[in-house]
Amino acid sequence: MRAVDIIIKKRDKHELTQQEIDFFVKGYTRDEIPDYQAAAWTMAVLLNGMSARETTDLTLAIARSGETLDLSTVVPVAVDKHSTGGVGDKTTLVVEPVVAACGLPVGKMSGRGLGFTGGTLDKLESIPGYRVNLTTDEFLEQLRTIGLVLTGQTADLAPADGKFYALRDVTGTIPSIPLIASSVMSKKIAAGAQALVLDVKVGLGAFMPDVSKASELSELMVTIGKQADRKAVALLSDMNQPLGQAVGNALELKEAIATLRGGGPADFREHSLVVAGHLLALGGLCEDEEKGKHMAAAVLEDGRGWEKFIALVRAQGGEVSAVENPNQLPEAELVKTDPAPRSGYLAGVHARRIGEIAVQLGAGRAKKGDPIDHAVGIQVHHNVGDEIEAGEALFTIHANDRSKLEQARQELLAAHTWSDKPVDPLPLFYGVVR
Ligand code: URA
Repeated sequence: MRAVDIIIKKRDKHELTQQEIDFFVKGYTRDEIPDYQAAAWTMAVLLNGMSARETTDLTLAIARSGETLDLSTVVPVAVDKHSTGGVGDKTTLVVEPVVAACGLPVGKMSGRGLGFTGGTLDKLESIPGYRVNLTTDEFLEQLRTIGLVLTGQTADLAPADGKFYALRDVTGTIPSIPLIASSVMSKKIAAGAQALVLDVKVGLGAFMPDVSKASELSELMVTIGKQADRKAVALLSDMNQPLGQAVGNALELKEAIATLRGGGPADFREHSLVVAGHLLALGGLCEDEEKGKHMAAAVLEDGRGWEKFIALVRAQGGEVSAVENPNQLPEAELVKTDPAPRSGYLAGVHARRIGEIAVQLGAGRAKKGDPIDHAVGIQVHHNVGDEIEAGEALFTIHANDRSKLEQARQELLAAHTWSDKPVDPLPLFYGVVR
């Protein structure tokens, strides 16, 4: 078999066999197929697509490119969640402790921010001392003892995904439905998930711009789950405006802490409860997601979710006093609130632009490996549909550089759009694919 023939076959819109897909993934993982051939192949897939069967074969080939975890000896049902990436999406920080506090153990391997989207590991690293590089043995031991782990993916897990992802990031081949579906599902299968809640973001601040594309991706991921003998549910959730108010690492962590302590923005709290409800139902702790949502709300209210989060921070070496007193977490030197320039109804809070502005302030990376500033970011104080008086607080910028702060002010004003007539609020969810 030759890599070039597999590229040509996909270029000419033919279906690849399982053997050809395995050959390509193995060859690329072992550096026997060079980046330029892998780039040509991913572009051919982006342009010509893949069948559900090819995508399942690709997913399994990537999942088997390294170590795979079997959690069946550690937990009764290994559940996991995955977000396809958004702005202000700190859901994992609330959902996982809440679900664990309900009695369903969860061990999650999270990622870093990508482009304008944030990543759970960067948010967790705002906590001094918190370790995100647990070994597989440490992961299993912590899952067994406290029932909750939030760490990074080990290098041995689905290494082909890491290589393909880095290549796609710089060759314009991220927004391909089969490539995203196989990337997401391979990691989760390799990490031992038996049941999975997929939080598929839709809108201006997501990789899927509209509900029809997001449904297509969701259906494909759920089908791959079935073919790989895993349960999966996909929630189509709004990402036209940021989720909650905070965008930026320590700011998002503080918002998650406030939510775990019974406060936090209403939209973020509701979103987290719905995701937790689905996880609890999939994990068999209740009959359906509605009952699961009530269970999750109860542990948020009585503080058990918060206690679980503290146990997690302690177990992973983080400074507990910093999360108990969030003013000890990184804080920016310049904090400036801007008033609404006019009265009216908020018609848009452009999630992607807000994510990009947070990256410019230093909250994200221009390229892989760049350092980030955990303290900086933005708080947006209103949601689409809010009626606002001129002069009310519109957004707050947290910056460590005066010229970046000035630039962010102008761009944030432009990211808010207005209407004189009432505007409907955006829904939190557009549907569920089972
Ligand atoms: N998230 C992933 O894990 N992979 C993709 O390809 C896109 C989003």
